[in-house]
Amino acid sequence: MYFVEVILPLALAKTFTYSVSEAEYDYIQKGMRIAVPFGKSKIYTALVIDLHQNKPALYEAKEIHQILDEKPIVTENQIRHWQWIADYYMCAIGDVYRGAMPTALLLENETLITQKSGVFVDESQLTDEEFLIYQALQQQSSLRIQDVIGILNKKSVFPVIQKLIDKGILILQEEIQESYKPKLVRYIRLHPKYDSDQGLNNLLSTLKNANKQKEIVLAYFQLSASEKKQPVAVKQLTEVSGVSSGIVKALIDKEVFEDYLIQEDRVSFTGESDSNQLQLSEAQQKAFEEVKASLLEKEVCLLHGVTSSGKTEIYIKLIEDYLVQGKQVLYLLPEIALTTQLVTRLQAHFGNKVAVFHSKYNNNERVEVWSQVLQNSEKAQIVIGARSALFLPFSNLGFVIVDEEHEQTFKQTDPAPRYHARDASIVLASFFKAKVLLGSATPSIESYYNTVTAKYGLVQISKRYGNVMMPEIELVDLKDKYFRKRMTGHFSDVMIDAIAVALSLGEQVILFQNRRGYSPLLECMTCGHVPQCRQCDVSLTYHKHKNQLRCHYCGYSIAKPTNCHSCSSIDLTTKGFGTEQIQQELIQLFPDSKIGRMDQDTTRGKFGFERIIDSFKNREIDIMVGTQMLAKGLDFDNVSLVGIMNADNMLYHPDFRAFERSFQTMTQVAGRSGRSEKQGKVIIQTYNPNHNTIQQVTNNDYAGMYKEQLYDRRIYMYPPYFRIIKITLKHRDFDKLKEGSMWLYQVLNQNLNIPVLGPEEPGINRIRNEFIRTIMIKIPQNLSINNIKKTIQKILNSFDAVPQYRVIKVALNVDFY
Ligand code: ADP
Ligand code: ZN
Ligand code: ZN
Repeated sequence: MYFVEVILPLALAKTFTYSVSEAEYDYIQKGMRIAVPFGKSKIYTALVIDLHQNKPALYEAKEIHQILDEKPIVTENQIRHWQWIADYYMCAIGDVYRGAMPTALLLENETLITQKSGVFVDESQLTDEEFLIYQALQQQSSLRIQDVIGILNKKSVFPVIQKLIDKGILILQEEIQESYKPKLVRYIRLHPKYDSDQGLNNLLSTLKNANKQKEIVLAYFQLSASEKKQPVAVKQLTEVSGVSSGIVKALIDKEVFEDYLIQEDRVSFTGESDSNQLQLSEAQQKAFEEVKASLLEKEVCLLHGVTSSGKTEIYIKLIEDYLVQGKQVLYLLPEIALTTQLVTRLQAHFGNKVAVFHSKYNNNERVEVWSQVLQNSEKAQIVIGARSALFLPFSNLGFVIVDEEHEQTFKQTDPAPRYHARDASIVLASFFKAKVLLGSATPSIESYYNTVTAKYGLVQISKRYGNVMMPEIELVDLKDKYFRKRMTGHFSDVMIDAIAVALSLGEQVILFQNRRGYSPLLECMTCGHVPQCRQCDVSLTYHKHKNQLRCHYCGYSIAKPTNCHSCSSIDLTTKGFGTEQIQQELIQLFPDSKIGRMDQDTTRGKFGFERIIDSFKNREIDIMVGTQMLAKGLDFDNVSLVGIMNADNMLYHPDFRAFERSFQTMTQVAGRSGRSEKQGKVIIQTYNPNHNTIQQVTNNDYAGMYKEQLYDRRIYMYPPYFRIIKITLKHRDFDKLKEGSMWLYQVLNQNLNIPVLGPEEPGINRIRNEFIRTIMIKIPQNLSINNIKKTIQKILNSFDAVPQYRVIKVALNVDFY
């Protein structure tokens, strides 16, 4: 009797045993995928993690359907790492497997259903079964019919799906269509009919009398030869030959050339690598050597370098060292939108050894990078990506860089696995005895604390590259300005003057406001009514451009009402302000300037972000208004003024990280100012100029912020002194939820000798018609987290065994961020 042990891509903690023939047993290896039946009629792509001869005691092992791979596509280190993630973050190994693999590797040729985009769904009109399917599609972009069978736990699901299609909520499709428009570049190659030597002679004789055309063909040969058969862009060709693109077109028509398009960030590098040209400054060289020395002793080093200190160049020098040893390098970024800038910079040094792993890449592209990494191919020796790049099949990893390590986007919130990519990458690196470098101008309290306790090394750079000065920060007291009537809209006289000066010098301006939309609220002046979302416990945000009120949680929208829904008064007013309103006011204040906006509303789609960044870099935009997105490590050379429109709404977030985050965001945004020779300026408008955090930003006082926050964290029992596990419970029935969460809280509290808080109604206690309760468990750093997790898991199992509680959705977030 022969068996395989497999993981299924489902939220199941267990592994499953299937029986195989002797021949299959000899053929199959750990890390291969096989198709297996599961339940009554389902087929899944399972991953083999073991082969053995132990008959399962509790059930009859079914036979597998099919072996899907000829060679393992998942490594043993990956499986070990996934297991660690499942244990540490308290989720099913199946969740990790599903989250880690490109979906193309989990699919079979089956019908997929997906939600029709841009349709508002009135959830109260859905039956329970319809709601379950709809809701599952909020978690993942598409479902197989077979998944639906699982969700509804019955075989005949076609009628329900048909209903949802009739209602215009679902569509069927063979494969998920990508909804973005990638940025395409036109390339050119010789028509295949001229591919032979004979063909070339023919070509040259045909062109004998067409000089311009000949010139361009010769330029083409020159380019393609010198670049070792690299693709030649049309733009490049016209530049080199000095001949117009009309001639190129004529040659395409003549079938001498043919043109083709490639997505820009997937183009192999066409220039020459110039790794020798990179000259580190004295401060960079010193930091570079300190990092190397530190990594001889420790596994992890934190590079704390002020904004624009040139951390990227130090990374590049370090990467060189690992490439020479033939090692793989993983470079994690907080935001995929930043990859284009970085890819260009890295390719200039490493040519074709740079691969990008995007969650927004389509399936085939992701599978391609996956197999390059698996084969330890040179083409993917350096992998750049956001957090999911961590799941690739590395075999020879030598170095991990986590840039902007403080960014909260490294923590996945939904769905499980709710892992922190920085922390999980440190564990991954340890399997390979690889080294990790964390980089930031504003390190997280946790990472900095780890340097103070000597767990991590620490290297600091306090000067900007090229001796550029740190920006000068000026505070504007809004209370005083309003009192003395020095405000125009949301702009103080100081801010307006500074913008005018910058523009007159041909310099660019960045204005930061951490809210999108026009204005957060529409309020009735007569009765105080504020329109709320029908499905969530939040007020609707006013978007002037579309004349709409919109929910930022579920997308629900209504036309802006002309009178109050409660008392019919027409006296409605807007409260607060977002990026859209700032943009509108700027148009009035500076009618001759070009004003751009960068927030979630303007950067949708794969390259939306890049397009806006490009036009700002090319100086087609004078003033850029934006949200947090502006704070993420962008490098503009002509920005001399950064304005923070209102510092206060960041400070007063009900979150223990609010001050730390405010410091980080303001410091990072401020860091976009004056990145070349001239000293930049930053203006912060606030009602609280004496607030400690604002003073710390003004004085560039990271140490002061760290010390103050650490003190609070100790007193109020937060990280790094305590680990936090947050349990979120959700259900549509308010009473059931209330009762269930109270039960869970009480049992946890009785069985754990550590602080358990809750059950709390969060600030927003209903989203998409589901009510929410949270419970927080605080585990002192010195206690063994494993035993506590075991107890918690046991209690959750009993919770699940209570019939009326089983329907309540429970999500665990370990190291909640
Ligand atoms: P950080 O990531 O620390 O904010 P960057 O790495 O983006 O800083 O560097 C800031 C700017 O200085 C960039 O425009 C970069 O090209 C330039 N720069 C940094 N180091 C060097 C160097 N050694 N040689 C040339 N330019 C450099
Ligand atoms: Zn009213
Ligand atoms: Zn809503």
